[in-house]
Amino acid sequence: MAGKYDVIVIGGGHNGLVAAAYLGRAGRAVLVLERRHLVGGACVTEETFPGFKVSTAAYVNSLFRKEIVRDLDLRRHGFEVLARSPSSFTPYPDGRSLMLGPDSALNDREISKFSRRDAERYPRYEAMLERVAALVEPTIGMTPPDLQRPGLRGLMTLFGLGRAYRRLGAGASEAVEVLTGAARDILDRWFESPELKSTLATDAIIGAMASPSMPGTAYVLFHHVMGETDGRRGVWGYVRGGMGGLTQALAAAAREAGAEIRCEAEVERILVDRGRAAGVALASGEEHRATIVASNADAHVTFTRLLGRADLPADFLAAVDRISYASASLKINVALAELPDFRAVPGIEPGPQHRGTIHICPDLDYIERAYDDAKYGRPSERPVLECTIPSVVDPTVAPPGRHLMSMFVQYAPYSLAEGTWDAWREPFADRCFALLDEYAPNFSRSVIARQVLTPVDIERTFNLTGGNIFQGAMTPGQLFSFRPVPGHTGYRTPIRGLYLCGAAAHPGGGVMGAPGWNAAREILRDRRRLG
Ligand SMILES: Cc1cc2nc3c(=O)[nH]c(=O)nc-3n(C[C@H](O)[C@H](O)[C@H](O)COP(=O)(O)OP(=O)(O)OC[C@H]3O[C@@H](n4cnc5c(N)ncnc54)[C@H](O)[C@@H]3O)c2cc1C
Repeated sequence: MAGKYDVIVIGGGHNGLVAAAYLGRAGRAVLVLERRHLVGGACVTEETFPGFKVSTAAYVNSLFRKEIVRDLDLRRHGFEVLARSPSSFTPYPDGRSLMLGPDSALNDREISKFSRRDAERYPRYEAMLERVAALVEPTIGMTPPDLQRPGLRGLMTLFGLGRAYRRLGAGASEAVEVLTGAARDILDRWFESPELKSTLATDAIIGAMASPSMPGTAYVLFHHVMGETDGRRGVWGYVRGGMGGLTQALAAAAREAGAEIRCEAEVERILVDRGRAAGVALASGEEHRATIVASNADAHVTFTRLLGRADLPADFLAAVDRISYASASLKINVALAELPDFRAVPGIEPGPQHRGTIHICPDLDYIERAYDDAKYGRPSERPVLECTIPSVVDPTVAPPGRHLMSMFVQYAPYSLAEGTWDAWREPFADRCFALLDEYAPNFSRSVIARQVLTPVDIERTFNLTGGNIFQGAMTPGQLFSFRPVPGHTGYRTPIRGLYLCGAAAHPGGGVMGAPGWNAAREILRDRRRLG
């Protein structure tokens, strides 16, 4: 096979596919090797229950780059996002509820039920997050500079960032707090209503092994205003046909650009020849040669499992060993005979309460206590639930009259103090269902089937170290120039010709496509430079 491919992409996650499509369009011969039976990584649709199109892992979209949709003509390949409005519904134990979304009149009405003062402040809070997002969003498409050896290009990037920061003027210190501080401090300062604060805090803890009072959690708050659906900022949506609608469109675009994609092709080893990437060896024994290898697997898998320790400098390996993969996320996919009938907003006909994310987390202390359990290695006694029912907006994902729920649960710590996740899987899912029953008493009896993905199942299914849904924690010390490790950003690695092209690299996790897009650009830049 020598010389057949210019680039081998390890892993067909959405970022690997984005990289493959851009490299293919630039005239490179690309081979994508995916270990699972389908491409998409954590962004897939599978028929887990007959007749249901289940988004096995990721379940909502807003962050995917519109530039990639345009460049790769993804709509022609079937990609469509269905906006959700309202975007969230939080029922409370006293029978009240809060709905929020892109409709500012609705937000004002709903927040006023709890605090008139908070309703007045809410648009200003969103404007503050917008200002921070305006600072951060342009960095998504950047190659982060190596802070120790920035070179001219890195210095220009840093200069541009410095200017953008200066433009924030008086808002600069607030921006620093959002980028590094605790969500709780910020929310406590802005608002008085426990109901509003807990709903907003859920943004900050998604996928994190952290509570809102911990520094670093505020960073994700502005995802709330970031991204867009159909040109509307901050609006999250469901992908028609499930999240795999995006990755199937990406695969079609990559194939159209000439890339070859093979599933059930697990890479066992990255071949290195005199410090240079030389190809890959598959678990099947097959070998493929190429001078460029781009890994969509996480940094731990790429550097400690696919390479020998002798292939890499000791200080680099020590930094890789320090990457935090702490996680406490669990996902339950549920086929339903009928919609949840909430005490707060009764009815089993599709209503606004079913369209957005349904939060079960009455106040900030509830979230803190849920985290406290996890801190000591116990699954939360009273977990935080985020439920979405895409079938209400997209009828194609469930048979007529049936519904599909995605229940994202925190905290389910990967490392348990006692027992195993194989033993905890079903009892913990029962606990989550009993909790939702308190708010919607018909829930458990409407369940037709369920699939429980514990952190260990997430690790096994998607090859995500520690079950971390973002290929490494999204904490300030692991972002931008520190992702995956300081001194090795820019998608390059200590092995020439070996690149990272997935969420392990800047800007990290979430269905954005940016790591794959940026990596392809850097690979092409190096090729041009090296000839
Ligand atoms: C349960 C869960 C829920 C989430 N919810 C959301 C959400 O709603 N919205 C959102 O924006 N983000 C969400 N995320 C995060 C988001 O899905 C990920 O950050 C994103 O999918 C990362 O994409 P990727 O292409 O970089 O990597 P991955 O999706 O991790 O893909 C990597 C691919 O590489 C393959 N691979 C690994 N090792 C090898 C090997 N040795 N040989 C061959 N192939 C290999 C894997 O099988 C996988 O297909 C969620 C993640 C999870 C797990």
